[in-house]
Amino acid sequence: MNQRTARPRSASAKSAIEKKLSAYEQDGTALELDAREVSLLRSLLMEKRATTPKGGTRRDRRVSAGIIFSDLVAKMKLGGTGDPEDDANVDLMISAFGAAPPSAAIRQRVSEDASETARQAIKQVIASSRVVNAFGGGGELKAADPLLPAPLAARIAPALGDVDSWDFDLFAIVDAVGGDKPLAAKVVAEEVVLTRRGCAPDGAFREVVRSCISDLVDGYEDVLYHNCLHGVDCMQSFHAVSRASPRFDAALVATDPRAHLVALLAALAHDIGHVGLTNAYLIETQHPFAVNYNDQSPLENYHAATGLKIVDGKGLWEPFAPRERRLARLTWIETVLATDMSHHTACCAGLDALLGKVGDAGDAAAPANNLQVLKALVHACDLGGPTKPLQTHLKWTDLVMEEFYDQAEKELANGKEKPSLPVRGSVNLGKFQLAFIGFIHPLFAKINQLPSINFETPLKNVDIVRNHWTASLDKPAPVSLPTLK
Ligand SMILES: [Zn+2]
Repeated sequence: MNQRTARPRSASAKSAIEKKLSAYEQDGTALELDAREVSLLRSLLMEKRATTPKGGTRRDRRVSAGIIFSDLVAKMKLGGTGDPEDDANVDLMISAFGAAPPSAAIRQRVSEDASETARQAIKQVIASSRVVNAFGGGGELKAADPLLPAPLAARIAPALGDVDSWDFDLFAIVDAVGGDKPLAAKVVAEEVVLTRRGCAPDGAFREVVRSCISDLVDGYEDVLYHNCLHGVDCMQSFHAVSRASPRFDAALVATDPRAHLVALLAALAHDIGHVGLTNAYLIETQHPFAVNYNDQSPLENYHAATGLKIVDGKGLWEPFAPRERRLARLTWIETVLATDMSHHTACCAGLDALLGKVGDAGDAAAPANNLQVLKALVHACDLGGPTKPLQTHLKWTDLVMEEFYDQAEKELANGKEKPSLPVRGSVNLGKFQLAFIGFIHPLFAKINQLPSINFETPLKNVDIVRNHWTASLDKPAPVSLPTLK
């Protein structure tokens, strides 16, 4: 990935940027790019993209390049801290982004100097430099290396072997790769999309899909629960239920040959950029997501748009016919928006209506029902924690509760007397979990009643999980000790 990615219009502009870059690398001179240089980089990228011989009109390609660049800059700004030193690092990355992928020296300096927030933003840009590579060298992505060295790949093969199962142990993969969550997520996603599903057998397109997976995973924030592991868990769960339901699985592809690819990537990206806070909190505090989307499903709208921008920028849709593109975008948007819990009741009511239909009309495999069932399945996979094997469920529970407690603390700090989420130390976890199970169980039961869907394993697991929490209610509450400071 060392190829040049953009060629400045004039030799002097190019050499000015390169000089600044090498001064920074050699002696750490602060690097400042003026607005003209940033805008030059932007237009170069757009131009490169426009002249790349691929599908779509020249204008389309310019627009998509502009969106990618703006998105990257927006991400960097979003991650900025206002600290001049951090901003200098962000500017540096703009330069690196435009001129060449960041060198080892830059990476090193960035990791030493940058604050955590800026570092997160910078990491995203480093990952996104692969987007730019798509515009160099005639527009072809170069074949990337395998994610894991051969010995490690061999070591995790047994755990990865269960990836078709609802009971797959994602945490075993995380442990096997030394706790690197994005790496684990990419390994699992590639295994599902490329190996098990064979969604992209062709060389060039395969690399586009790999690159999409990589950037979708890297687009996740490292929050406690809604991080890339939750994203890939939702994707793998959807894969598992679809595999267990062969008629539905086959019908999806019969209706649209690319349905698996689109559904899997949408599930993977369904919480991309999640900030670990609920919609209600974001609306109340007028977070930019809420402002931008008029308080309407702020998170889900953001997730859908962000994931689509990434895959669009990668050229994922380029081999698709116009009708397929429209269908793919529709499927993606509808599926991600349906993960908003505020649609849960409507989703269940829709399933009741489907179950009330006679014969094939109510079959999940009927083409007319594909999208509705797909949305219900991804929504169920998103909420599937209590339907996993007990030990897996307990791990997810720890993570999600910690994220809830963090929000409750924020609400208390904001002066709210009664936080909307449980407060650490004052919640009966068993009761809380049983209430949640009571809420989601009907969704799983209704889906399992649909002709062509097999949801038996989740329903078996949830009984075990429910018994666990019910038994916990009988145990005496732990004695709380005063905190020593
Ligand atoms: Zn989710």
